[in-house]
Amino acid sequence: MPDAPPHKVVIIGSGPAGWTAAIYAARAQLNPVVFVGVATQSPSLVLPGGQLMLTTDVENYPGFPEAVSGPEMMAMFQKQAERFGTTVVGRDIVTCDFSTMPFTLHDSAGETVRANAVILASGATANWIGLENELRLAQSGGGVSACAVCDGALPIFKDQHLAVVGGGDSAMEEAVFLTKYASKVTVIHRRDRLRASKIMQQRFLSQPNADVMWNKVVVDVLGDEKITGLEVEDTTNGRRSTLEVRGLFVAIGHTPATGFLEGSGVELDDAGYVILGDRSSRTNIEGVFAAGDIADARYRQAVTAAGMGCQAAIDAEHWLAAHGSN
Ligand code: NAP
Repeated sequence: MPDAPPHKVVIIGSGPAGWTAAIYAARAQLNPVVFVGVATQSPSLVLPGGQLMLTTDVENYPGFPEAVSGPEMMAMFQKQAERFGTTVVGRDIVTCDFSTMPFTLHDSAGETVRANAVILASGATANWIGLENELRLAQSGGGVSACAVCDGALPIFKDQHLAVVGGGDSAMEEAVFLTKYASKVTVIHRRDRLRASKIMQQRFLSQPNADVMWNKVVVDVLGDEKITGLEVEDTTNGRRSTLEVRGLFVAIGHTPATGFLEGSGVELDDAGYVILGDRSSRTNIEGVFAAGDIADARYRQAVTAAGMGCQAAIDAEHWLAAHGSN
């Protein structure tokens, strides 16, 4: 039997970038196929639907004045993409060969997938400390989050004592954001010196409700349904103590989901993010585009990822038209 013709566009990832790319590609009659990934119980919480599956109320996505839950929002994105003819596949792409066209991908069920254009939108995952109660309360909306900009303004955090773990620019940025809502923000850092740039440190430390706990690591998150406190350990003498807080924001970096690109030739920066052409979604490989957090260490917002997904679909459409494969 002859091979089935290649797909016009395969989209890898199912967060705001992937679904928006699918909506645009489907409306351009490119019959996109979205590989949404496989639901796992992995501690890194990589989920079909992306980081928003861990967000309780999304209050900053325009058009939702009453807020919307992250999972609900992703279900709406998916429905909209399917309405225009997107095919959804519940598997991961595990390897990519971009050396010949059409491109050859392999999925987690061992199937070979061929495509004329590919949009990489598998996102990045926030790094977690890795404590059982931390992950449980992050998933249940119990006051543990990896994104202050997304969750910090929720009523449960208002006028409360909150903690931020981490000592980099993200931790400072999150902590400054939280000082507007919290009664007090304690940054917990594992060393005696912050990694963050001086200006970011200063921005936080100059707030009247800013506080830092040096040489401390969080060893447990306390509370059944809602966080009530943290057990912390001093890294210099091993002594443990309890800190009462009503929110924990983990800001210890992100890891872009690019494992499946190993050996594919797609250029990544030192931190592992896909490098894009100037003001476009093009990667260094013709016909391969990227959108969302996989290529964005800076903004990491649902609305910016969605915008990048739109750009990638338009760039892919133009590229396919120019190469006669649309
Ligand atoms: P980062 O610079 O890698 O900092 C991560 C922080 O988390 C470090 O302080 C690290 O401690 C700590 N950490 C890592 N693993 C930990 C663990 N298991 N337990 C406790 N602490 C842990 O990451 P980032 O802050 O997300 O920044 C990433 C990049 O984006 C940086 O280049 C940053 O400059 C940039 N960025 C810029 C801005 C801005 O300019 N507005 C805002 C955000 C991010 P150690 O210091 O001990 O290693």
